[in-house]
This record gives sequence, C-alpha cells and structure tokens, in this order.
Amino acid sequence: MVNPPVPASIYRKGLDLKLQVAGELASDYHSQLVERVKDAGYRWQDGRVTVHLAREFGFCYGVDRAVDYAYQTRLRFPDQRVFLTDEIIHNPQVNNRLRNSGIRFLSDPDESTDNLVAEDVVIIPAFGVTVADLERLDRVGCTLVDTTCGSVLNVWRRVQEHARDGFTSVIHGKLRHEETRATASQAAAVNGGRYVVILDEAQTGLVCDVIRGKAGRQEFMDAFRDACSPGFDPERDLQRVGLANQTTMLMSESIAIGEMIRETMIARYGPAALTDHYRALDTICSATQDRQDALKQMLGAHRFDLAVVIGGYNSSNTRNLARICAQQIPTYHIAAPTCLVSATELRHQPLNVAPGASAGDERAAQTVARNWLPPDGDATIAVTAGASTPDSVVGEVIDKLTQLASRE
Ligand code: SF4
Repeated sequence: MVNPPVPASIYRKGLDLKLQVAGELASDYHSQLVERVKDAGYRWQDGRVTVHLAREFGFCYGVDRAVDYAYQTRLRFPDQRVFLTDEIIHNPQVNNRLRNSGIRFLSDPDESTDNLVAEDVVIIPAFGVTVADLERLDRVGCTLVDTTCGSVLNVWRRVQEHARDGFTSVIHGKLRHEETRATASQAAAVNGGRYVVILDEAQTGLVCDVIRGKAGRQEFMDAFRDACSPGFDPERDLQRVGLANQTTMLMSESIAIGEMIRETMIARYGPAALTDHYRALDTICSATQDRQDALKQMLGAHRFDLAVVIGGYNSSNTRNLARICAQQIPTYHIAAPTCLVSATELRHQPLNVAPGASAGDERAAQTVARNWLPPDGDATIAVTAGASTPDSVVGEVIDKLTQLASRE
C-alpha cells in the first residue's frame, strides 16, 4: 500500500498572527452592549422588557480558535486560494464574513476538491473532516490549517479505543452532522472497527430490542441502514458496545441512552459480565455542558414569559439549548436579529423540524410566530446563544428585543 503524500505544511497551532488579527476579530464579533449586560449581572432592563442572559453563552473555546485561525490564514496567504472544507462553524454571519474576505467553501455546489492544487490552502473546521476527506487533501498536497477542536479529537480517541478493543461504537449524534460523520469514519478506519449512529431514546430502544433478541436484523437494517458501518451484523456487532457522544448533544438525553443500554446488557448477559459488553465515557464537551447548566440555572431562578435562543439552524448545541427552554416556556430559536421582524411577528425554527433540514438555507425551516411578545405589561425574556454565535449577534438581539417592546 502506498502512503498518501504528506501535505506541504500543516498548521495546527495557529499561524503566528494572533495579535495582528485580534483587532479585526474584536471589531467583527465584540459587543459593547453584551459587556454592559454582563457588568449589570447578566440582567438588562429597558422599558417594560427585562432580559436575563445565561451566564455561559455564545462562542466556545473551539469556535474562538477556529475563527481566529481562519482570519490568520487569510492574512498569512494573501496571494493563494484559501478554502474551507465546509462551514467553519454553524453560524451564518461568521460564514458570510469569511466568504466576504475571499475564503471559498468546498461544500458549495460550484466548488470541488477535484479542482484543488498543491498551492492551495485548505482550512479544516472545528468539527474535523472524515478520514477519506483528509486522505484526499493529503494526496493533493495542499497546505492545511487544521482547526479540529481538541474535544472532538477526544471523541475520536474514544471510538478508536472501542474499535481496537473489539467494541462497536454506539455514537449518540446526528447522522448528517459533520462532527458525527468524522467520528464514525474514525471508528471505521481502525481494522475491524464498527459503529452505529443513534439519534435519540426511541432509536436506542430498537437497538436494545435487538440486543435482547426482541427485534431482528431486518428491523435494525430498516432503521439504521445508512447509520451503521459497512457489513454491520446486528447480532454479532451489538454484543460488545461502547457509547460515545457527539460533543454537542443534550446531556440528560445522553445519560438516559447510556442507562438504557447498560440495563439491557445487564439483562442480557448478567451484571458480572457488564464490563465485557458495555463501556461508556461521556464525550459531551465542557463548553456544551456549561451552556446547558447555565441555562437550567437561569430558568430555575426567574419566571419568564418566553425564551429566545440564538444560533444557526443547523447548530446542534443551539437546538439542544432550545429544547431545554421549551420544556418550560414558549421558546423561539432564531438565527439572526432580523428574525425579530416586529412585536407581532417573529421568524424561527420550530423544534419539530428534522435536524439538519435547514443546513445551508437559513429560510428553509423557518416559520412565523405571531404575537410572540406579551402585548402590554412587563415582559421577562430568557436569552441564550449556541457555541457558534458571536457576541455581536447576541447584542443586536437584546437591543432589538427592547426596541420592539418600546414601540408597542
Ligand atoms: S462545541 Fe465543544 S467540541 Fe464543538 S468546537 Fe466548541 S468546545 Fe469544541
């Protein structure tokens, strides 16, 4: 077997231009209003509206780093073509900003990896890329800027360990999400490695039925044909499983899924043999966890009329923040300040839209809510934002909320 050629250069720790891009990043994504809200105890009152902002929200360490490296890359290679394999993060404003700086997206319909040449520079987003995509880039020999988040690399290490030890990785994640596709490819890249991707407790129930012998191969394949590794044999490959999570899943759901599989393995093989058949290690990243915890804390501390959750419609962690809010209060997941059209009209993505249905098209999954703001009297609004939402967008939303209420 011939090894793929090593790329001319690969940057994994920045491009020594951090200071040079710091001003531009601050001007693009910083918000004075958000700083004032933080200084005021994460509470902002203007007229009849009181906004409470979750104490952890917005850009996480992985996103901060990925966006920073993208800016450094553009500056470092002014005369070369610079590409992203896909969206750098799931935020429309940030992606548009990078497009406007001249960075091209290989995921666009008129672009292709086949047209890359060795002189090109390609940025790998925070989610990482599949093993096959990385090998393709290696073969071209272009310069790579790898911004894959350390927390994603941690998930990859877990599924590689599962595979090496003969465990099938059960990946709690979204099948079409870039990170989960990359993680699945890492499991399959180990000799004999296998995986199945499960979305929720309902799908876990079917996997558990197969383990218990209550459901068969056909039922499994009907549900998971596109979500498992090639040659998957449910009877053989579900005897020893290791759980891993996409980093941005809902923690409570991941815990429930792990418990379902654990109990099933105990029922099938007995408690003494559990470690031979099941292993789990939580791979939800700390940034996701902190945002979910801060939101729950805020929701428990005040009485709210509604929640506004800000983030791209294909952002997994934003969607999970919206799910937490929706258990308690009317919740609107919006992608941009422009979604707040008026005090009687708001465009948002409802939670019943299939995950990823709106990827690449911000309008695809939007619906219109009428009379979303209480027409008079005080309105207390919970606000939070996913890990790919910059402060500038959060600040604009808070500003718009207070403006719309005062116009009534
Ligand atoms: S959400 Fe977590 S895994 Fe994803 S980029 Fe941020 S810190 Fe990394």
